[in-house]
Amino acid sequence: MKNLKNALLLKQLYQLKQLGYKYTSVTPCKEEEQDFTLPNTLESLRKQAMECHLCELSKSRHKVVFGEGNPGADILFIGEAPGTTEDSAGKPFVGRSGELLTKMIENVLHISRDDVYITNIVKCRPPHNDIPTPVQAHTCQPYLLKQIELIQPKLIVTLGATAYHYLTGDDTEISKVRGTIHKQNDYTIIPTYHPSYLLRNPSAKKEVFDDLLKVKELMGK
Ligand code: URA
Repeated sequence: MKNLKNALLLKQLYQLKQLGYKYTSVTPCKEEEQDFTLPNTLESLRKQAMECHLCELSKSRHKVVFGEGNPGADILFIGEAPGTTEDSAGKPFVGRSGELLTKMIENVLHISRDDVYITNIVKCRPPHNDIPTPVQAHTCQPYLLKQIELIQPKLIVTLGATAYHYLTGDDTEISKVRGTIHKQNDYTIIPTYHPSYLLRNPSAKKEVFDDLLKVKELMGK
């Protein structure tokens, strides 16, 4: 939360600068007067994220990709960051890797994509589809953690190394941790490969299939 506070303070300083202040020793706004808590509904959280300018990704994005799906989903999928298609559509996983993710959900888990919730580590597209930097990921993290708190999924499936690493802080290779179960703050996390990795390495589909069978088993299906 400290990151969010610092970023909000920085934003206020930029705003004061835009108003013409050259230098100020005045505290822009007393911390105790500020409400740093995030909204308690997904819809109001989404509205807040839509207006977010806390990191430089907000300058180049076209649309904020907050996430979509069932707000009471049992399974939450977390990817890395929106790509070009998602940035135009404002929805997560709607490009080629999204098509594959939808197939994985519908053909292996046998549930509709609308029944799960899908989001990303960062809500805005990094230029050149770069991996989000630690600062970008940490600045965006309060939104993700609040989404998790509000959705209360039974299971979180992280897609790819970046999502797993930024969510858990563990930088073990994805090939070593995929398909294993991690408990974190009352949540159960299963990492698997990212669909875009599968597009480049179709032979890894078998491993993802196995990981999804584990997801099914854990969900009692
Ligand atoms: N890759 C991701 O990690 N997330 C998306 O939303 C799309 C592609």
